[in-house]
Amino acid sequence: MGIVSRLLWPDERFDGFGSITPEFLRSQGVSALICDIDNTLVTYDDPEPTEQAGAWLREMLSSGIRIAFVSNNKPARVELFNRSVGAPAYGDAGKPKRKYLDIVMSEMGKTPEECAVLGDQLFTDVFSGKWVGTKAYLVPPIKDKKTLLFRFKRALEKPILKAYERSRKKK
Ligand SMILES: [Mg+2]
Repeated sequence: MGIVSRLLWPDERFDGFGSITPEFLRSQGVSALICDIDNTLVTYDDPEPTEQAGAWLREMLSSGIRIAFVSNNKPARVELFNRSVGAPAYGDAGKPKRKYLDIVMSEMGKTPEECAVLGDQLFTDVFSGKWVGTKAYLVPPIKDKKTLLFRFKRALEKPILKAYERSRKKK
């Protein structure tokens, strides 16, 4: 396996967070999900969990799956989003830096093998998870920003995801 496939290929892709079930996580040995917020669980415009996101988070928690939030957005945004959830949560995380993933894992008392990072971006979410040794689950962005930087990032992700899909078909 090359370095790109080891650090940038998600373990699974889902069509949205709602397709991830506690049963699936348990079958993977995952008991804690470290979630990105923006474009993964809600759009940038939703300050708090939508009805769908809230129901899904409650289902995870009541099934014994630990939830944490690690976001590159402002701490105030993370705090407001987390108000009704009360999970370990950090903003300004600077993913792909691993610092806050390490912090939440030790806060939850979990090893990397017991955790999965869930996010919408390869170069921040997936990379940071694979770097610390968790599983990484990728969802498509709910509603992408149309800035040049975001379009550039998505364009860079494309060939990597294509190679990933090709390799999966071979299996
Ligand atoms: Mg995101």
